[in-house]
This record gives sequence, C-alpha cells and structure tokens, in this order.
Amino acid sequence: MRCLLAIGLSLVLAQAAVSQTPAALADVRWQPEHPRQGTFIYIIVNLNSDDARLGVGGSMAGQPLHFERDASGAFRALAPVLVNALETIPFSLTVTRRSDSSHRVVLIPVEPAEFRSSNLSVASRFSATPDSALRARIAAENAQSARAYRQAHDTPRMWTGEWIRPRPSRITSEFGVRRLINGELRSRHLGVDFDGETGDPIVAANRAVVALVGDFYYSGNVVYLDHGNGLVTIYMHMSEVDVRQGDIVERGQQIGKVGATGRVTGPHVHWHARYGRIAVDGLSLFELEPVEYAPAAGDSGR
Ligand SMILES: [Zn+2]
Repeated sequence: MRCLLAIGLSLVLAQAAVSQTPAALADVRWQPEHPRQGTFIYIIVNLNSDDARLGVGGSMAGQPLHFERDASGAFRALAPVLVNALETIPFSLTVTRRSDSSHRVVLIPVEPAEFRSSNLSVASRFSATPDSALRARIAAENAQSARAYRQAHDTPRMWTGEWIRPRPSRITSEFGVRRLINGELRSRHLGVDFDGETGDPIVAANRAVVALVGDFYYSGNVVYLDHGNGLVTIYMHMSEVDVRQGDIVERGQQIGKVGATGRVTGPHVHWHARYGRIAVDGLSLFELEPVEYAPAAGDSGR
C-alpha cells in the first residue's frame, strides 16, 4: 500500500513537471475530424509560440511522421490509421528546441469502417502451398518492396495539389474487403481495383520518383511510385510498363498499361497505397483538405 502511494505521488509530480513543456502546450488536431480505419489523415500541430527554434516530429503506427509548415504556420504531416485500429490510435508528438525534446501521446479516436466480405476463386497454382523455390522468390520480392517503403521516408515530399485516380474507370473491388479464397478466409484486399481492358492506360496518381519496377509472382508487372514523406503508391498486374526505376513522373503521366499478369482472374489495375509499411486506402487521399505549404526555405519540421 505504501509502495502504490509512492508511485501515485511520483506520477503526479512527473505530470506537473511535464505540463510546462512545449509538447504539453502544443495544440494538436487532425483532418478529417472523424478518422476511419485504414485511411490517411493529416495531423496538424500549432505550437502557440513564436520561438522559431522549435521543431515538431512524431510517429504513428510505428512510422515516423514528416511535419512541414503550412501557409498558416502550423506543422502538418500525413499519417496512417491502421486498418484494424480499435477505438483510438496513439500519435506520439515530439517538440524539440535545439538538443532538448519533450514528448506527449495524443489518442486519436477512430471510427470503424464498413468492410465487405468477398468470395474469390483463383487458379489452384495460386492457392496451393508454394514450394521452397517459390517461397524464396516471394521473400525476395517482399524484401524489395520493404526497401521501397523504407526509402520513401528519406525522400522529400514530391506530391503537390490534388490526387488523381490511376484509371477513370469503375472500381470493381474496394479497400479492406475481407477475402475468402475458395471459401476460406485468407486476407484483406489492401488496395483498390479499377476496371480496364488489356492495353488501357494507367497514370501516376501524383508526382513521384519510380522506386521499383518488377515482375512479381503475385503482383505481376508492377510499378512502385515513391511520392516522398513516407508515401508510396503501387500499380499492379500491368501488361506493359512505360517507366524505368529512377524516372521522375508527373501527376497524370502514363506509367503503363492494364493487364492480367500475376495473381489475377482478369485484366484490371490493383492500386495499393502505403505509408511506410502500413497499407492504407489510397482513395482517402482524395478526401483530404487541399494544403498550401509555407515557402520551402527553412520550413522543415523534421
Ligand atoms: Zn486488387
């Protein structure tokens, strides 16, 4: 009993000391106001201070966030809400002044998304257990993907303005659908499928550098676009690829053509968005408010 009391007292003292730090005084909000599972949100931090030496950083879902000052002077970063987040997701805020830093955790409420279930029948070559050579191939491809996701955290933001769809066509399967393959629950559909005929153009959703071009077992001919600040979009199952690794592509630029390569039952483009290694619904990028950033010089919140 004495012990518990001592712990309680030290917590109160610690909180009293922390309450004076810049992190404790920062005003944190997010957009949209009611984040859903599996979506991108903006986290917006106002420091209520004129001290230009203050910098803002943080993390969410185990991924670093990349804060930049917007035109209003607030620090703003894109952040991923996990597809299986329950009720809240913690955002760890760091406010630095020279070598000092202070921290605070903000719990962001999360609304459940309505994910459908779908039955899928795929060729038995894909539903059988892969042999060791195939497992090695898949592991090597996963390692290449993981490198691209990590790299995106080191690329400065390249996207600007609005996002556009990789195809203007109908969506045939949305993000988050629970997949029953041959009647058995296997996975979630972590991308958005756009309809198309083989040869139809696929365009870049925003400005980016081509991080990876591959011929992958599951994804078929695939292009990874690194938009910077942790954000990657991926375009799968192409019949032809029109870009090379290292190319800079502009929003709307054709990067390839619709196909049925990899693990598919017919031609379409599977469009996948990642924040670092977190899969997020790319369509939620279209719901974010347009942002005007502060001029580039000395504005980095990193
Ligand atoms: Zn798909």
